[in-house]
Amino acid sequence: MLLHRVLPFSKRLISETVFPGETVVDATAGNGNDTLFLAEQVGTEGKVFAFDIQEAAILATAERLGDLTARTTLILDSHANVDQYVDEPIGGAMFNLGYLPYANDKSIVTKPDSTITAIHKLLGMLKKGGIITISVYDGHDGGKEERDALLDYVKTLHQADVHVIRYELLNQRNNPPFLIAIEKVRDFDEVVQI
Ligand code: SAM
Repeated sequence: MLLHRVLPFSKRLISETVFPGETVVDATAGNGNDTLFLAEQVGTEGKVFAFDIQEAAILATAERLGDLTARTTLILDSHANVDQYVDEPIGGAMFNLGYLPYANDKSIVTKPDSTITAIHKLLGMLKKGGIITISVYDGHDGGKEERDALLDYVKTLHQADVHVIRYELLNQRNNPPFLIAIEKVRDFDEVVQI
């Protein structure tokens, strides 16, 4: 199959651009599925920084990681503060927006300002050729506002600095996610907006 669903497709992009020994970021740890995937990608010499603002998510991620916790730093803070924790080039980053699946309280969701701040900072840290994947859900309260702000933001990024795609399956029911992927195509410390 070539036309994967969004989550497997985002993993495929990351697996083609992240190499063993690299440092990567899971911006929304949640239940730890992407954190575990990233920890497997970077191997024993690599590092994963995983962020979440909910303690329940950090605990669930630690449990999901099992033996791979050693190569992972779990951070109970907003991804908007990523530059306070990560001080080295990164091979890639993943976002999975919205609320914590299976949580009792689904009112804790990602927000446009912090999501965009985090992406902006991560683009500066990203290696040339690296990719940031953002799985976007817009079915919950505030989801459409976050989606629109994000689409507005990525369209301002200079085409000489990054390539940005939107990928989605058009025949799925029940508000499926779509993917935004940003590939850094030349070196820069701060991405230019136009
Ligand atoms: N990738 C996760 C997985 O594999 O299970 C699912 C992530 S879930 C859809 C979104 C997560 O983002 C929630 O756990 C939520 O607490 C977290 N979140 C919301 N705002 C955040 C922020 N500003 N910084 C970091 N995480 C945040």
